[in-house]
Amino acid sequence: MTQEALAVEDGAPAPITGGAATEEHAVPAARAAETILWVDGITVSFDGFRALDDLSLTLEKGELRCIIGPNGAGKTTLMDVITGKTRPDSGRVELVPSHTELTRLSEFEIARLGIGRKFQRPTVFQGHSVFENLELASRGGKGVLRTLFGRLKGPERGRIDEVLQLIGLPEQRDRRAGLLSHGHKQWLEIGMLLVQDPKVLLLDEPIAGMSHQEAERTAELVKTLAGERTVVVVEHDMEFVRQIARKVTVLHEGSVLCEGTMDKVQADPRVIEVYLGT
Ligand code: ADP
Ligand code: MG
Repeated sequence: MTQEALAVEDGAPAPITGGAATEEHAVPAARAAETILWVDGITVSFDGFRALDDLSLTLEKGELRCIIGPNGAGKTTLMDVITGKTRPDSGRVELVPSHTELTRLSEFEIARLGIGRKFQRPTVFQGHSVFENLELASRGGKGVLRTLFGRLKGPERGRIDEVLQLIGLPEQRDRRAGLLSHGHKQWLEIGMLLVQDPKVLLLDEPIAGMSHQEAERTAELVKTLAGERTVVVVEHDMEFVRQIARKVTVLHEGSVLCEGTMDKVQADPRVIEVYLGT
């Protein structure tokens, strides 16, 4: 965490102002009631190469969205833009109920607004127990010592126990995170996001490196997580996508090629061409 982030954490929270949507920047009316995140005309260039090219999509509240597409399609860059890691050249990302424009905020501010992101490689605190990892995460990165030696409030403890059940690790509660299997570490990291109650959960290749059995349980977990929150899964493994897919967005060369059910996108000749061509 950066110094700046710590300063904000310890002092009074800096106001996050989004500004009201203007006439030409309003979510399409038919979708407004359900939309939680609106990505509007995002372009990202790296040395003149357009990794994202006028990309637009909307995410609905509580939905489970899969984002697929060949290598280099822009999937990770999209997540980088939503989470504030990469600033786009143009376009907007709006958190809809509050009309907050995310592209002007820091990664820390965006996370605090309830957008949680899991990277491919698990980043748990190896030397601490599973429970302590969840505890640290639920304190939002406040001082490690303060967390470990401070008293945990009842509701907080209850929430952590709930998450332990959800991620299927209640028996590993007191185990050192460093001793967990790769798959269990991935679940723990999802748990570390869940204790912060994200509105939107972004998972980049959640089953990378997992056993078949772990992948199947991850599919169940991901399906459980949607509904109460919006879950976006970027994944290469088509068998996994098929297991969880409701609505699928296919990216290609930085924009949306096709969107719909798995059956619909799989039957789309443009999608077939793109996948056969790579
Ligand atoms: P995906 O996740 O769909 O495989 P990425 O979003 O990682 O694709 O990358 C999209 C394109 O942008 C790729 O061609 C990649 O090489 C390029 N790219 C991504 N990040 C950078 C960067 N920091 N600098 C230069 N090119 C990048
Ligand atoms: Mg990627």
